Amino acid sequence: MELLSPAGDLHKLKYAVLYGADAVYTAGTQFGLRAKSGNLTREELKQAVEFCHNKKKKIYITVNIFAHNKDIDKLPDYLQFLQLIGVDAFIISDPGVFSLAREFAPEIPIHISTQANVTSWKSAEFWFQQGAKRIILARELSISEIKKIRKKIPDIELEIFVHGAMCISYSGRCLLSSFLNNRSANQGYCTQPCRWEYGLAEKTRPNEFFNLEEDDYGSYILNSKDLCLLDKLSEIIDTGLDSIKIEGRMKSHYYVANVTRTYKSAIKLISENEKVPNNLKEELNKVSHRHYTEGFFDSFDSATTQFYESSTYIRDYQFIGEIVNTNKKSIFIAIRAKFNVGDEIEIIFPDMNSDLSLEISNLYNEEGEPISFTKPNTIVRIDIDKEIPPYGIVRKNIRK
Ligand code: SF4
Repeated sequence: MELLSPAGDLHKLKYAVLYGADAVYTAGTQFGLRAKSGNLTREELKQAVEFCHNKKKKIYITVNIFAHNKDIDKLPDYLQFLQLIGVDAFIISDPGVFSLAREFAPEIPIHISTQANVTSWKSAEFWFQQGAKRIILARELSISEIKKIRKKIPDIELEIFVHGAMCISYSGRCLLSSFLNNRSANQGYCTQPCRWEYGLAEKTRPNEFFNLEEDDYGSYILNSKDLCLLDKLSEIIDTGLDSIKIEGRMKSHYYVANVTRTYKSAIKLISENEKVPNNLKEELNKVSHRHYTEGFFDSFDSATTQFYESSTYIRDYQFIGEIVNTNKKSIFIAIRAKFNVGDEIEIIFPDMNSDLSLEISNLYNEEGEPISFTKPNTIVRIDIDKEIPPYGIVRKNIRK
């Protein structure tokens, strides 16, 4: 079973691959549904394909907007370009884009996006008959429904989301952002109004709000928890799915790397008939997240999928930098956030067994002068007299 990770930009793509993804999904600067993530220029897309294929990984490109007439003339050139550089699949939701892809880039397999809301075996069969290679099932399915689709259409590849943000509406088919902010989710511009705090106002007194309460909690009436199916992995593997996907092209490369390596390690342990230990699950609490839910997996229960008190993220750890160079006695860190001499930091690596905790006893700036704290966007040196593996990411527990 493939582990598929998000790649909001080239840097995140590299970390997703280095931390264990079998495949990544990303977008060009047009026609994907995450207009606000970095996205990749044509030159970067070429580099991304080369990087993934050199590492024997796959790269899928989202072309999953609901296209309007103005988009149609621009799509053939883009699809032909993606075919030329050898991407491994398109992720598509719109039947019009699907037919353009078949016509102008027939060599590239098509995965039907979760935005297409495939919720039944009949719908999966329809797309299979059209020539789709894979269906990314709607998030709103239970495992028993997924098993039935698997059984009825054994030859189509099936993919599900296992981790990340959820929508209150059907897999992103949502007008809230268009309605309240004139920014369409279906064109990649969602401003997440489902996370806003709502109140009730009387028409002639617009600045006086009555509290909107649900069961004595709060007024985040549309706020979904984040999906986490780590505890269900064994059942997912037994169902014979082809791919599991992590949401989060807008998240940091620390988030992508840590969630990817956690699922990768869990898949490995399960395949060796080992139990997934609690410290592995804990890693998913060390990235910024909302409360977790298993969504629709067993059956839908709004009490366990929605969180009414607040929509802010739980953040116990801060991403403070990445290791850009090492030698046998020092590490060099590109700093993103401040820390001080005397702080305890943690360094994570693609192989969790290499993770380190370190109390900072020395710190030097780029000129080699001793300093007592770091400044963002600089490079610092720490002498540790120990050889460490490459691609370390540095974090700090901010609750201690
Ligand atoms: S407003 Fe919320 S529910 Fe609607 S598409 Fe955006 S994230 Fe999803």
